[in-house]
Amino acid sequence: MEKILNFIDGTYCESQSGKWLDNYNPSNGAVYSQITRSNASDVDRAYTAAKAAFPTWSNTTLEERSRIMLKISNLLEDRLLSLAEAEAKDNGKPLSLALAVDIPRAASNFRFFANAITQFSSESHESVGLQTMNFTLRQPLGVVGCISPWNLPLYLFTWKIAPALASGNTVIAKPSEVTPMTAYLLGEICNEAGLPKGVLNIVQGTGPEAGQAIVAHPEVKAISFTGGTETGAHIARTAAPMFKKLSLELGGKNPNLIFADCEYDKMLAVTVRSSFANQGQICLCGSRIFVERSIYDKFKSDFVVKVKQLKVGDPFEAKTNVGALVSKSHMKKVQGYIALAQEEGGIVLCGGDEVKVKGLEEGYYLEPTVIEIEDDQCRVNQEEIFGPVVTIMPFDTETEVLQMANSVKYGLSATLWTSNIDRTMRLSKELEAGIVWVNTWLNRDLRTPFGGMKASGVGREGGFEALRFFTEAKNVCIRYE
Ligand code: NAD
Repeated sequence: MEKILNFIDGTYCESQSGKWLDNYNPSNGAVYSQITRSNASDVDRAYTAAKAAFPTWSNTTLEERSRIMLKISNLLEDRLLSLAEAEAKDNGKPLSLALAVDIPRAASNFRFFANAITQFSSESHESVGLQTMNFTLRQPLGVVGCISPWNLPLYLFTWKIAPALASGNTVIAKPSEVTPMTAYLLGEICNEAGLPKGVLNIVQGTGPEAGQAIVAHPEVKAISFTGGTETGAHIARTAAPMFKKLSLELGGKNPNLIFADCEYDKMLAVTVRSSFANQGQICLCGSRIFVERSIYDKFKSDFVVKVKQLKVGDPFEAKTNVGALVSKSHMKKVQGYIALAQEEGGIVLCGGDEVKVKGLEEGYYLEPTVIEIEDDQCRVNQEEIFGPVVTIMPFDTETEVLQMANSVKYGLSATLWTSNIDRTMRLSKELEAGIVWVNTWLNRDLRTPFGGMKASGVGREGGFEALRFFTEAKNVCIRYE
């Protein structure tokens, strides 16, 4: 059986624990590989390698860092098919999605930050009349930790690693133990691109063991984490007494506000996608759909027709729109919410059941599910489900829908469908979300700040924000005669 190993100091190695975790293929429920189960002593080894690599890497010219990172980007593109297949097998997502989104975006992450670092500059402030000049040094932090989730495995892993490396840090990174495969494959790509050993170290294993050891390591200067809100809170509690820099990208429960004056056909098509792309397992999926009452009945019937047309099936079939959920336990959690919705008085308009795919009967497949609700405060409309389940309900006024959109603990993204520019401006300012999409969804320019408000996180990634996070600003003040 295939073994997924750590990548430390440029070499693949087993954990010192000698223990292994099973890795499942969600499309058929079978164990297909084993993951080395790392602990604090493996993180220590990774730290030693990263620390030794730091002086050279942080003094490597920007041109050279950029050149190596562009090479990694090119190699990711060269291996598009094999990496996309690995991602689909490990995660259960449709291969078509991994080919179109996950792997191209991982390559873009490296390319973007390879270029961004060559344009990153700092300020100077001349204290006129006082013969004093200030300038800001932007220095890498040292050894930093990057921890990522299972929903967009290589995409989010590289989204953290690329800016950390570009700005001169050395890294200990941990992918999710649910989807470790493409992070494992990244090691050999880094070697082939000529990334010096020890600059990137990849530790495999569980959150409470390997992840916790990275966060708790006293010499790891910053943690960039994407994952659940509860895990983020735990990480914050561990890191705070050591005054580590933290970037936390956490859960979401994103509203979709649909007004009668929107471009209807475009809205309908995009809303199907924003509800169920990646089996609804994208932190940015719009899982609460609010529709203006005058078009509510039409939307409800058109939406249900389109959702029923989505093909649930084998991730490797070209016609599949919805693949497998990532794990059995996650599927059970999502099913629990569908049952809860009915107890709370919700009406399942379509979906709700497990799907048995021929030849893959043990896979984790669920029908895309639309639930009509009456009370926006019900738990299915308040808590993150992170699966192929959306709620819909009508609204009468802009004030009412704004109040409902904001009355959850999360604040990651919001999508607004309208052709009214005044309303667009009013709501964009009032919506409590780090990202507001207007007449579009998941439209990303990597220069823009990315992150959430409230329980969706602290800090912003993307563009120069990420390079600022991974550097320390130092004011140098020179008095001259
Ligand atoms: P998770 O919090 O369970 O795990 C995320 C990562 O943290 C994994 O690598 C895990 O091993 C690790 N981890 C777990 N416990 C840890 C600990 N005590 N110390 C250190 N590391 C630990 O999240 P998940 O189930 O993998 O991912 C789903 C969640 O991620 C959802 O809530 C989703 O909304 C969120 N997410 C957020 C964004 C965003 O950009 N805001 C993007 C994608 C996913």
